Amino acid sequence: MFVGHYSVAFAAKSEKNKIPLWVLFIAVQFLDYIWATLVLLGIEKLRVIKGFTAGSMLDSYFHPYSHSLIAAMIWSGVAAIGYKPLCGWLGYAYSKSAALIVGLAVFSHWILDLIAHPRDLAIYDNKWKVGFGLWNYRDPEFALEIALLGVGIILYLARNVMPAIRKKAIVVFGIFLVIIQIGDTYVPRTPLTDKATVMGVWIFYTLFVVMAFFLEKIGSRRQINSR
Ligand SMILES: [Zn+2]
Repeated sequence: MFVGHYSVAFAAKSEKNKIPLWVLFIAVQFLDYIWATLVLLGIEKLRVIKGFTAGSMLDSYFHPYSHSLIAAMIWSGVAAIGYKPLCGWLGYAYSKSAALIVGLAVFSHWILDLIAHPRDLAIYDNKWKVGFGLWNYRDPEFALEIALLGVGIILYLARNVMPAIRKKAIVVFGIFLVIIQIGDTYVPRTPLTDKATVMGVWIFYTLFVVMAFFLEKIGSRRQINSR
């Protein structure tokens, strides 16, 4: 699962919880940030094999600290607990339900990975691996990613008040994510090394976080001026 994860970030944001979209963009990929970091450190193991599944080259055969069910629950708890101090530090508004929502956003990653991954997700440690393997079916997996993203963006636009120009920008950003997913799913490429792959993960995910940050700034000054 790739851009489908962001559907949860879009869907989770509301006027009531006021969680910044960029925070939710980190939350829904939190487990992959940990995974990418641990692969870079040589602690978790990844093989990049052309044609490993129809929709992905990643054979993530050892990732107990980022992608086991127990680890996912622990990281979700850590994120939920950490959200309030983060708000205090950044001077953001904090509502009581927000910590829970951030925690659930982190956990959603595991659920969506469970659908896409081949049986490489352990329940705990490196044992009892599960995964429904939708990555073996390229078109349905791609369709699910896009459908999820579409629903998430529609919910985001419906549940949040924003200037028209930002709505347009969100739609353009959604199209951009679809193009990224087309590239990831359909454009053939030679496999990179494990380390280069996870460096790419870090760079792309962080680029999306920065874009989410600026998206929620679009039109806000004009809104203040017109009051
Ligand atoms: Zn993952």
